[in-house]
Amino acid sequence: FSKLGLSDPIVQAVSEQGYTVPTTIQQQAIPAVLAGRDLLATAQTGTGKTASFVLPILQSLGGERKLRGKRIRALILVPTRELAMQVEANIADYGRHLNLRSMVMVGGVDAEPQKHGLIYGVDILVATPGRLLDMAHQRALYFDELDVLVLDEADRMLDMGFIEDINKIISHLPEQRQNLLFSATLSKEVRSLARTAIENPVEISVIADSSAKPDISQWLITVDKDTKSALLSHLIKTYDWTQALIFIRTKHGAAKLVSQLEKRGIKAESIHGGRSQAVRTQILADFKSGAIGILVATGIAARGIDIDDLDRVVNYDLPDDDDDYIHRIGRTGRAGASGEAVSLVSKDDFKRLCAIERRLDHLIERREIEGFEASKVVPVSILNYVKKDSKKSYNI
Ligand code: AMP
Repeated sequence: FSKLGLSDPIVQAVSEQGYTVPTTIQQQAIPAVLAGRDLLATAQTGTGKTASFVLPILQSLGGERKLRGKRIRALILVPTRELAMQVEANIADYGRHLNLRSMVMVGGVDAEPQKHGLIYGVDILVATPGRLLDMAHQRALYFDELDVLVLDEADRMLDMGFIEDINKIISHLPEQRQNLLFSATLSKEVRSLARTAIENPVEISVIADSSAKPDISQWLITVDKDTKSALLSHLIKTYDWTQALIFIRTKHGAAKLVSQLEKRGIKAESIHGGRSQAVRTQILADFKSGAIGILVATGIAARGIDIDDLDRVVNYDLPDDDDDYIHRIGRTGRAGASGEAVSLVSKDDFKRLCAIERRLDHLIERREIEGFEASKVVPVSILNYVKKDSKKSYNI
């Protein structure tokens, strides 16, 4: 890390985290960001992307400069509250030997403490777009001292419909600034955002780099829809799964699954958009500490969960979008740890399975569990399947 041009207090904080070698994206991004360049980076969670922008930002803000009230110097926009908290926690860890102020600003919680936190200015603000815009409109903060903008998980922000908010925010920013965009995928929409927000960027992609790819064993079980919860209970008990993050489509489904598991003697919790932010934060903390082992989550609520050694993720439902599958499995097997991704696939998931396997460019290993054989057979995917009305163009 010191060879990348980072100062001693930062190198020390990084080594206190136990990191010895920078990941591929860190090796490429840190010198470029320190040199003041804009960045367009294709990288998933699990590659060490957060540190790749946080470390050089800490370094460039580390010099003497007085903060002015209601001003921010670096803005990190993220899609979800959970990711915001995660990124800010990393800033606090990596910046522990520096004297910089960072803060999270997200919706769903009281705005007053956030306004209060801005009064003397903040060096690094991590925010979701909606709340940030609200605060700017209320003149609780001004962007005239901003040096750096980071768009983290840009594809996800666009999927969640934040494009208008992001464009409005960008229109308020000073023209002279550094821009860093991170995205798991470079869709047409992300490229078009990049054109408005970024100038002559250094482009980095770590997706194709197998050394950066986490070690994840992926497998699936074909099963009838109505026996999924019984199969899941069986897997948890038989294989003694002490930790699993289970993705499910709907809030209602999440609550129902928790009660089905509990009826079979398995303790589980759920997070979804219908639960308050305070409850979600507590449940996430308990899941991280191991107090909760089985967590059922809807896709949006689970976004941004960062746990170093998550044993496995389970797709109780397959996601509609193949990008989401990649994001989900990225929750396990992170930065060197191995993990598994298990999917319960019923016949109505077939099209989604095709899209995912096409994206992976290989079939996912199928396993059978005695007593749970699917009566409605899930055919083997056609790897050149193309989603109808798909916005993406596949290279076939
Ligand atoms: P991210 O891709 O930013 O979500 O990071 C994935 C995980 O890797 C996080 O839990 C980090 O704490 C961890 N990490 C980041 N950089 C390194 C590194 N150089 N060596 C080991 N672990 C790292």
